[in-house]
Amino acid sequence: MNELLSTDLLVVGAGIAGITAAVEAAETGLRVVLIEKRPYIGGKVTQFSKYFPKMCPPRCGLEINIRRLRTNPMIKVLTLAEVKNVVQDAGRQNATIKLMPRYVNDRCTSCGDCVKVCPATRKNDFNYGMDLTKAIYIPYEDAYPQQFVIDTTTCLEGIHSDKGSDCNKCVEVCKYGAIDLSAKEETMTVDAGSIIWATGWEPYDANKLDVLGYGKFADVVTNVMMERIASPDGPTKGQFLRPSTKEKVGSVAFVQCAGSRDENHLEYCSSVCCMASLKHVRYVREQNPDAEVHVYYIDVRSSGVFEDFYTAVQKDEKVHFHRGKVAKAFQDVSTGKMVVEAEDSMTGKLLQNSVDLVVLATGMRPASTGLPVNGSVIDKNGFLMEDGSDMIACGVVTEPKDVAAVVREATGAVAKALMRGSYGHRN
Ligand SMILES: Cc1cc2nc3c(=O)[nH]c(=O)nc-3n(C[C@H](O)[C@H](O)[C@H](O)COP(=O)(O)OP(=O)(O)OC[C@H]3O[C@@H](n4cnc5c(N)ncnc54)[C@H](O)[C@@H]3O)c2cc1C
Repeated sequence: MNELLSTDLLVVGAGIAGITAAVEAAETGLRVVLIEKRPYIGGKVTQFSKYFPKMCPPRCGLEINIRRLRTNPMIKVLTLAEVKNVVQDAGRQNATIKLMPRYVNDRCTSCGDCVKVCPATRKNDFNYGMDLTKAIYIPYEDAYPQQFVIDTTTCLEGIHSDKGSDCNKCVEVCKYGAIDLSAKEETMTVDAGSIIWATGWEPYDANKLDVLGYGKFADVVTNVMMERIASPDGPTKGQFLRPSTKEKVGSVAFVQCAGSRDENHLEYCSSVCCMASLKHVRYVREQNPDAEVHVYYIDVRSSGVFEDFYTAVQKDEKVHFHRGKVAKAFQDVSTGKMVVEAEDSMTGKLLQNSVDLVVLATGMRPASTGLPVNGSVIDKNGFLMEDGSDMIACGVVTEPKDVAAVVREATGAVAKALMRGSYGHRN
């Protein structure tokens, strides 16, 4: 089936940038199709425990936006959807969209009976693989849409596998007839006046930072993992525990610019990692008043209103700032603790601090790989540029930035779409 949908605006990526663009556009009267490749909308901020600088829960603001989106009939949301191709035709953009099957339809009440009988497990990508879910799962408690999804790569017998699936347990137990294991990938065409690209970012792959011990030592984690560890619905229910021993964390080292501002990895600054780590310092210190914290930095970037946040953290006598790039992190076999080694560039001394947990402040890389856009709009680091063509983009896919800046840029993107769009097909 190749359905054709005519709309004013297509927004690709339903993180905070895409959701903002979609609701702002719809509230000016445009018809919007918002597509998201994950099974739920909200992007990375759904995985955060708190937002700097206010330390409020991101899901609170997100819920308000999702309500604006849900109650607006001008917006159609498609999850598990990706743009495969875009053809320009008489000022309109014809986008071919691939829709992956969820295997669970909207009759799902998220009662969870299917989970109880599902025999297969998978690594929980929402928690960066730190725990498991069943193969039929809801990505997180407040996910929108509130609908289960099946991970076919781990579903025990493999739906549509050569062996043929004879595990039908979830189908049998579902009282609502919400599970359809025969669902297939579909294609549809969206004919839009404009497209806003808001595909966001991915964390830099910490496996590439071998000297810092990620992947080798369980007690080395990344900043995005730290958000899930701090979250009450995360793998440790918000408790800071050493992954290796499950004991309470008494000391932490934050390694800033882990792979950033480094021509061998990401040559640019991701701009938010200093503030994210200062926030993580507060997570740790608020939970454990005895915890010792070391922050290794090149320079701390906390511009404008964020400076007060940094100053407040600096006043904490249990937090030690060391100016110097970390050379290596390794395990002391006699104690099992991690040792972080750096040269203090203020004193010239070699520092070695022994800690329970090492947190790598890895940067953000743009999620632009494989997008059907003209190569000339992608810069050397993969960020999307507006080059005077039809390209309109917003969020971290254009440049690293915090949420407030993303929201401002998304609103601006809608203004550009309003100016440039061809809405001649409106009924
Ligand atoms: C550790 C850490 C902590 C942070 N903490 C804060 C904080 O406390 N406060 C703050 O202001 N900022 C914070 N930030 C910055 C914040 O994460 C970003 O500003 C925000 O996530 C950007 O939102 P976005 O919508 O641009 O991208 P994303 O959140 O990445 O959303 C993009 C969406 O597009 C989807 N997508 C990608 N490709 C496609 C495709 N081809 N087709 C369809 N959909 C696609 C993705 O699945 C995703 O849902 C933090 C960053 C880090 C690294």
